[in-house]
Amino acid sequence: MSIFFDSLIIITTLDLFNKELMVSIRKIIQTIFFIYTIFAGIWFYVYINELKNENYSILKPSSVEGFLPISALLGLKRFLLTGTYDPVHPAGLTILIAAIVMSIFVKKSFCSHICPVGFLSELISNAGFRFTINRWISGFLGSVKYILLLFFLYVIFYQMSLQQIIFFQNSPYNKIADAKMLYFFLDISTTGFIVIISLILLTYLFKNFWCRFLCPYGALLGILSWLSPFKIKREKANCIDCQKCREACPSDIKVYNKENIFAVNCIGCRECAQNETAVKQHCLRMINKDRYFEKNENLLSIAATLIFLLIFIAAYFTGHWNSPVSNEEYARFLDSIRSLSHP
Ligand code: SF4
Ligand code: SF4
Repeated sequence: MSIFFDSLIIITTLDLFNKELMVSIRKIIQTIFFIYTIFAGIWFYVYINELKNENYSILKPSSVEGFLPISALLGLKRFLLTGTYDPVHPAGLTILIAAIVMSIFVKKSFCSHICPVGFLSELISNAGFRFTINRWISGFLGSVKYILLLFFLYVIFYQMSLQQIIFFQNSPYNKIADAKMLYFFLDISTTGFIVIISLILLTYLFKNFWCRFLCPYGALLGILSWLSPFKIKREKANCIDCQKCREACPSDIKVYNKENIFAVNCIGCRECAQNETAVKQHCLRMINKDRYFEKNENLLSIAATLIFLLIFIAAYFTGHWNSPVSNEEYARFLDSIRSLSHP
């Protein structure tokens, strides 16, 4: 990994990226991944319709399996116990592994660079009111995602046996779980609609509501991000207590009263360090003990994206990306999609 970081330092010295471009590089990366997600969603819709019309030559956009995090956790347990890679949704497991590796090395950068929900959440929050939530309520709400995470970990890693996982993975329900997810949105129930609108509204009122309080996936990545050598450091001597850092922080972390940010909610976005006052005061930096990226810490965004892409490329070329479930088999299950229930 050190060779990887060293090569990025060489890129810095070549000054291939000018400051203005680098300031928004995270947002550029985030936008590209979001646009790709929309594209993949449309492609998946076309795929399903083509299968219904008995055209089996079309390829499924495997990245939609990223929307099946529970199935990916099941795949992870089987992989850890047996070495067998998820035989139904390999892309889902690859995306989960990439998110885990990213968190271990470069904080919760999956949330701030790749996740489309994180992108939307920031977009809505930036347009919204960004009200502050009382410390006690925030503390209570902050525990919800950990309770959800504990529940999933308990059921999958403790309660479910390997045989049950294999049975679930091979079930028709799991094989077309991504199509079921698409139908959930296309044919949304009143309850589903109310929940989504409520989440949008809550995100409009309070910064990143879903990510900060409810996402169990983010909770897992946040805990793993403690292992990351990078953290935001505040130079106390340069701080003029303007609190612009907290204002800019999508996770509403009180950056101004800490020296080092160890918060699990820190997504490594560096918005706190990029507001005008922080840039002028040189009060905040994202560093690690070897001070990689100190000159141009935006390279952290490049590092995060490269980790994701390298894992994707490795998975793709070793046959761990596209599902072996044939289009004919997938189409057969589609006929009965509405009656397929959880095994
Ligand atoms: S932006 Fe910088 S100067 Fe302002 S409160 Fe935060 S750390 Fe202090
Ligand atoms: S503390 Fe800074 S890097 Fe961490 S989430 Fe807040 S703005 Fe982003």
